[in-house]
Amino acid sequence: MSKPSHLHFLETPRQDPKETPVPIRVRDWNEIYGQYDPAGAADQSARCINCGNPYCEWECPVHNYIPDWLRLVRQGRLFEAAELSHRTNSLPEICGRICPQDRLCEGACTLNDGLGAVTIGSIEKYITDEALKQGWRPDLSQVVATGRRVAIVGAGPAGLACADVLVRNGIEAVVFDRNARIGGLLTWGIPPFKLDKDVVETRREVLEGMGVSFRLGTEVGRDVDPDDLLAEFDAVFLGLGTYRYVTGGFPGEDLDGVVESLPFLIGNVHRVLGSSDERFPYVDVRGKRVVVLGGGDTAMDCVRTSIRQGAFSVTCVYRRDEANMPGSRREVKNARDEGVEFLFNRQPVAIRGSNAVEGVALVETALGTPDAGGRRRPEAVPDSEHALPADVVIVAFGFRPDPRDWMTGAGIAVHADGRVRVGDPAGGGPALPFQTSHPRVFAGGDMVRGADLVVTAVFEGREAAASIVRSFDRDGQAR
Ligand code: SF4
Repeated sequence: MSKPSHLHFLETPRQDPKETPVPIRVRDWNEIYGQYDPAGAADQSARCINCGNPYCEWECPVHNYIPDWLRLVRQGRLFEAAELSHRTNSLPEICGRICPQDRLCEGACTLNDGLGAVTIGSIEKYITDEALKQGWRPDLSQVVATGRRVAIVGAGPAGLACADVLVRNGIEAVVFDRNARIGGLLTWGIPPFKLDKDVVETRREVLEGMGVSFRLGTEVGRDVDPDDLLAEFDAVFLGLGTYRYVTGGFPGEDLDGVVESLPFLIGNVHRVLGSSDERFPYVDVRGKRVVVLGGGDTAMDCVRTSIRQGAFSVTCVYRRDEANMPGSRREVKNARDEGVEFLFNRQPVAIRGSNAVEGVALVETALGTPDAGGRRRPEAVPDSEHALPADVVIVAFGFRPDPRDWMTGAGIAVHADGRVRVGDPAGGGPALPFQTSHPRVFAGGDMVRGADLVVTAVFEGREAAASIVRSFDRDGQAR
């Protein structure tokens, strides 16, 4: 592309990649967004005004060098853009797909003030998808092996990011996961219409090409003794996520037809992939009236999955107003476009039915005083109870950490709420970031901070790897 004019951002409007029309996309499980061609990616990248104070980088949890890789795309230097993109992000093609950009990089773009933010997420996705397709692979030719070995427990985003940084530092990384595929929630929790599972498989091939090895279908604490891991490896990283559900604590949650969000999503992914897991049976909502309780991205995944399964109706019930929903605005829009009804300022007080679900009792809410996090509390409006008929109720109130029993025996301390303690003084010296109370065990991602974004887990996995490298530097040569 020739040098764009200084007013390119005005002459060329923001243009997202093509979206599959609603009547077609709700009939399959394919990703709904297409891909730029090279000219389209260059044209959109050229909209960056290089404002000199890139707030986008600061709002990006991994602090991507966004204006720099946008410039490389504009210049057609795709492989250099891919190399640069991987300097800060281990899973750029995945974050480009699923980050809530409207709350992060794009929300902070200077052009977001009425002119249309640069399509940062879509260009990040384009860079790696296209570079990999054209044969680019991360360059590890200068890496010198250290002889150190690290076991990574959990092949989710934190574990994969940790492995990526370790092998780039000459440290062997062996990743254990109880599932047959890598990815954790990337594979099992996020629906295929947001993240195609082939994308995760391609990332597995890339990581294996870099020297990462995977021991899948292997659960630490069941198939492998944690003490053996500590004996075999120089350090251990824990990235086990959060899988314990938050319940509503109201009557009727044990009725037939009440399901938790994650088992619902996992059972559905298995069905789409043609596999099964008896712990997560397929829940079929075809022809049913579905009510989803909650307003986060997991709730949006459940409503959009229900639509694609052929539910008769899908209603999302959220206790605050739309402006205070925790999920991505884009996901709410997509859900609405696909036919989901939203009921805001409604709080469930009971699920009704004799044996099976017949409906949800709701009260109206008004927003009261702010809570500790600054969000206004929903308060029930007196005498406002009413019924919403339902055949299936999906509870999507979020997740809590669930530390494994073996951690206590291994000397890994947890907070009262179950999150793993990291960065506390341990072993006679100041602890490194993401170092647990066991000096050779590190942890990061949701099991440390509580349920959060994929990109935040990536950041913490990378930071934990940096701490592992420093811990090896501190105690000299290999044991
Ligand atoms: Fe934006 Fe997420 Fe990519 Fe950062 S990682 S640039 S927040 S899409």
